[in-house]
Amino acid sequence: MTAALVEVRDLAKTFDVSAPWLNRVVERKPRQFVHAVDGVSFSIAQGKTLALVGESGCGKSTVARLLVGLYAPTRGEVLFDGQRTDDIARIAGSELRTLRRRMQMIFQDPYASLNPRWKVLKIVGEPLTEHGLVGGEDALRAKVSELLMSVGLAAADCEKFPHQFSGGQRQRISIARALATQPEFLVCDEPTSALDVSVQAQVLNIMKDLQRSRGLTYLFISHNLAVVRHVSDEVGVMYLGRLVELAGKRELFAQPRHPYTRMLLDAIPDIHMTGRARTPVQGEVPNPLDPPRGCAFHPRCPHANARCSSERPLLGEFKGVRVACHAVQEGRI
Ligand code: SF4
Repeated sequence: MTAALVEVRDLAKTFDVSAPWLNRVVERKPRQFVHAVDGVSFSIAQGKTLALVGESGCGKSTVARLLVGLYAPTRGEVLFDGQRTDDIARIAGSELRTLRRRMQMIFQDPYASLNPRWKVLKIVGEPLTEHGLVGGEDALRAKVSELLMSVGLAAADCEKFPHQFSGGQRQRISIARALATQPEFLVCDEPTSALDVSVQAQVLNIMKDLQRSRGLTYLFISHNLAVVRHVSDEVGVMYLGRLVELAGKRELFAQPRHPYTRMLLDAIPDIHMTGRARTPVQGEVPNPLDPPRGCAFHPRCPHANARCSSERPLLGEFKGVRVACHAVQEGRI
């Protein structure tokens, strides 16, 4: 079995979204908290891809930001190559630089994440100079050209500005920049969602080729199960800050267990005409400020019973799959 490069244990992040103190006193309002991530655990083996899926607001992007240290967790641990990284403020200077070099993030909107006033040479070359990985202008230009060519762009693109590229090309520049420090782990937050369908596959294929050639490990965040099917080895389904199912890709797509996973899969057009009975997506994600008691999915679940509305199901092992559902564990579905 391949060793885990990334391990997350009981990770939680709570945001205080209370009104200002004076408003609370005058209007007699209590403090309010959103549990964006609540007790998430998983591991990602070296060279593999774990995809986190779920509707908007389920906490998957917060998990991504917790992993690269953009947020400090409220509870839990993140281990990268055996080293705890959840308390990034306490990690010393050189150790932190090494850590930042080894893990990088690719964002959804390539236009917003690239400085429009910089040429590509500076955008892609900045991490190289920041980390002291090249000496001199010629070496920098050669390295940036090599990175651009590895993502299907040309060396001459060094001299252009971001607005001179299409959306797909801009995302390739983001990938080249992320690869500059030779990271081992990439956190990809909806990297193709802002792109036209026609160029999504090209970018995904580049990412898969780079994974194979460089042995990269990915955490891939997406709301699109068709994309997830293309890139992942393992899939975690999130609902209101919790993992409700964690399974191998083949297993999950062939035999989804959790009613929410089934609902998400049923939303994909059945081009193979399997004839399987489908339940259309029902309802909306509840208000995270006032989540339902018991199983958070029970107001939308066709299999809910009295136990579901009072007792929160825990993520448990069921025939090699981890799933949090009373009906699955009771053998009702
Ligand atoms: Fe549905 Fe109950 Fe399972 Fe929740 S625990 S998904 S409400 S059957």
